[in-house]
Order: sequence, then C-alpha cells, then structure tokens
Amino acid sequence: MENFINHEYIYKLLEDGKKATKEDIIQILEKAKNKQGVSHEDVAALIQVEDKELLKRIFEVAGEIKESIYGNRVVVFAPLYISDYCVNNCVYCGYHKCHDFKRRRLTQEEIAEEVKLLEKMGHKRLALEVGEDPVHAPIEYVIDSLKTIYNTQNENGTIRRVNVNIAATTVENYKKLKEANIGTYILFQESYHKPTYEKMHPNCLKGDYNYHLTALHRAMEGGIDDVGAGVLFGLADPKFEVLGLMIHNEEMEKKFGVGFHTISVPRLRPSGGINLEKFPNIVDDEMFKKLVAVIRIAVPFTGIIMSTRETPEMRRDALKFGVTQVSSGSSTGVGGYKEREEKGSGEAQFKTSDERTPLEVLNSLLDDGYIPSYCTACYRMGRTGEKFMKLAKSGEIQNMCEPNAMLTLMEYVLDYGDAETCKKAEKVIKERTEKLKSEKVKEFIMESLEKLKEGGRDYYI
Ligand code: SF4
Ligand code: SF4
Repeated sequence: MENFINHEYIYKLLEDGKKATKEDIIQILEKAKNKQGVSHEDVAALIQVEDKELLKRIFEVAGEIKESIYGNRVVVFAPLYISDYCVNNCVYCGYHKCHDFKRRRLTQEEIAEEVKLLEKMGHKRLALEVGEDPVHAPIEYVIDSLKTIYNTQNENGTIRRVNVNIAATTVENYKKLKEANIGTYILFQESYHKPTYEKMHPNCLKGDYNYHLTALHRAMEGGIDDVGAGVLFGLADPKFEVLGLMIHNEEMEKKFGVGFHTISVPRLRPSGGINLEKFPNIVDDEMFKKLVAVIRIAVPFTGIIMSTRETPEMRRDALKFGVTQVSSGSSTGVGGYKEREEKGSGEAQFKTSDERTPLEVLNSLLDDGYIPSYCTACYRMGRTGEKFMKLAKSGEIQNMCEPNAMLTLMEYVLDYGDAETCKKAEKVIKERTEKLKSEKVKEFIMESLEKLKEGGRDYYI
C-alpha cells in the first residue's frame, strides 16, 4: 500500500497556514463549534497561532467541545509492562537493543502477581505493553498473557478491559488478538515524517515506515475495530505530526468507516541511555498544550490519552481542553509494580512525572469537579468500531458514559477509598444523578448504588 502521508502536501499546508489572519482563525473556531471537525488547512492555521488572545480562544473552544461531548468524566487506566526484550533500535527509547541492562520477560505467575497488585489499586482497565522480540515475546506469549490477566482475580478486583500495545504485525496475528478479547489495539506511529522516522529507527525491524504506517489497516482487516494511534512528540516538527495524525485518521475513516478510537500524546522524556539534547524538536509546554487543544478540535470524537510522563499540573491543564483518559499509579518497568512494592523501582522505559497513587489521582480529579470513570462497558456490550462512533457522534453515548462513570466510581470508593473520598464521591454522584433527564436511568442508578452497597459489583449500561 502507498504512503498516504503526502509530505509535500503537508509542507504546503503549513506554509499556507502561516498566512492565516486573526479573522480567519476566529472564523475557523466558530466553525469548529459544530463538532464536525475542521479542514487540513484550518488545522495548519490553528497549530501556528502565537497570538495570546487567539490562543486563549483556541483553548476555550477546545474546552467547550470537550465538555459537550465528554462532560466531566475522565477514564482512568494503568499500563502493564511484561517484557522489555526488544530487537529494535529506537533511538529515543530506553529498551533499544543496544542498551545494556538486565532484560526480563515475566512468567505467567509473575504477570498474575502484577495484575493482583493493579487490582489492589482499583484498576479495571489496563494497557498491555510488550517490546518487539519474536523469540522472547512471540504472539503466543502475548495471547497467554491476556488469558492470565483476564483470569486473575483479587478479592473484588477484576481486569475488565485490556488494551494492547504491541509492535506492528500481520493480519493473522491481529486476528489472534481479536480472538483473545482485547479492547483497543494501540500503535504509535512515533513520527509521520518519513526521514525522521527512518533516522529514529536505524537497522531494525521497526525501520520500515510503510509497514508501520499500515499496521492499523491490518489490525482492522484482522477484525479489530477499535484502534488507537499516537505520535511521540519531540521527534519531528510537532505541527507536521498533528496533520499526520489527522490524515491517518481520515484514511481509516475512508477505508473502514471508523477512525481512531483514541490518540495518545506522549512527549519525549529522559530514559536510560538517552540524551535529550540530541533531539532538535523537543516540544515545550506551551506548544504541547496547543497541540492537544488542536487535536481536540480536529477530531472531536476521538479520546485523547495522557500518561504519567506528564506532571500533575500538565495533566490537570490538558484535561480542561482535550484529554479524556489518564493513567494513574503507573510503573513503566517490567515487573515494576512488585518491585515498587518491595523496594522502589527498576529499569523503566521512560521516567514518569506523576508519582501520585491512584487514590491521590482520584481525589484530585474529584476536587477539580471530574468524575473519574473505571467504565469498560462498551466493548463488553459490543459497542465497538463503527457502532461506537455512531453513538458517540449522535451524542447517545453520553446516556451510557455518565451512569457507568458514577457506578464504577462508587464501586471504586467502596472497595478502595477512605471515608473522606467516599463522602466526596457520594456527593458528586447525588448531584449528577439529580440532573439526569431520564427517570429510567435515574432509577437504574439508584437501584445499582444500593446493590453496590450490599456487596454487588459490576453494574453498567
Ligand atoms: Fe523497542 Fe518499543 Fe522501545 Fe522501540 S519503542 S526500542 S520497539 S520497546
Ligand atoms: Fe467508554 Fe463506553 Fe464506558 Fe462511555 S460507556 S466510558 S464510551 S466504555
């Protein structure tokens, strides 16, 4: 398949975008409010705005779009690293094959131990992370690990959705992942800029730009209908990357009727053996916030994920105008949850900047007026791919997200919260339930809340 990221076209868009006037930007933002997304030209103009007043408008409009689609819910998850063996040479990653450290691949028993610790923290949704190594971590290992995760239970804890982030692979292997009941398949393009991509992945399997770029197509062909994308900001010009994401999303919509379920926005961070000075495109905080807001405007119905690479302050800001999912209590090393419990941390893929516990993150979200959600209902109800996007675009999904968020929050605080958190959560749940229009949904929530208090679990629409 051809490279559908036409570089000359993007360069031209960015050149033309520089000419946008203040009036043009205001007009684009007015248009954006209808939540139909905007054109490539519009994105190229928005991403280059420097004027403080206009930037303020961009954040406001992105915030309004976010609020109207996602309300005040924030989905919470955690990563699980199970193998750091890797045959690739990504120059920005601590796991690259030339970095000399003691590598690990967890046994199924060790995975179960990690999962129990994650369950003890209240997590229900995981992102499974595996380095690329056909010998140490073949697809069979990934499939066995998925079975272990879904079958491991700790008191009230169960993992209800596992999103998977493994290297680009074949349609056959994607079929196997689908059969193993994964949530979203996530693959970061890292960079849409081909010369940068090739420079960042020398002499390794991952170095084939086109094979990597078309992996999500193969995932769809293999039957996975929720796919997530991402870029590692800091490798190439971030403006180019935002347009790359947008064009890739449209390509998926055109071919498969559904675009990205989520977009992740990792930013280059220090890690073992990596010197940040070697990267000329490091993204500063202001640019980073702008690009999150522009992505929100460009693809209103795609979730945006921010990990603990970012500080609590950045995560708090980004939640206002774009981000819809955050990780919490994360360990980014193999076997890291057990190691942390026993003696601090081991070799991580990258350093985290938000070291708060899941309960601290939850409390801070509640204090900021959000409803932390542990909901995993959609894929369990078969609301995936095109079906999901239709519900999202019509706004109908809100009737499910909000009740589910409240019920999973209640379940969380009953099992893992302290008295103060319980009080806060109950207050917000009561207030939000009163505001719901549907009497039927209100009734369902009230009944389910009672059942939760009596020991029942896992109620959702
Ligand atoms: Fe391996 Fe992934 Fe790190 Fe690249 S980014 S070195 S593929 S673990
Ligand atoms: Fe996500 Fe679906 Fe739950 Fe809404 S109802 S939070 S879209 S899983």
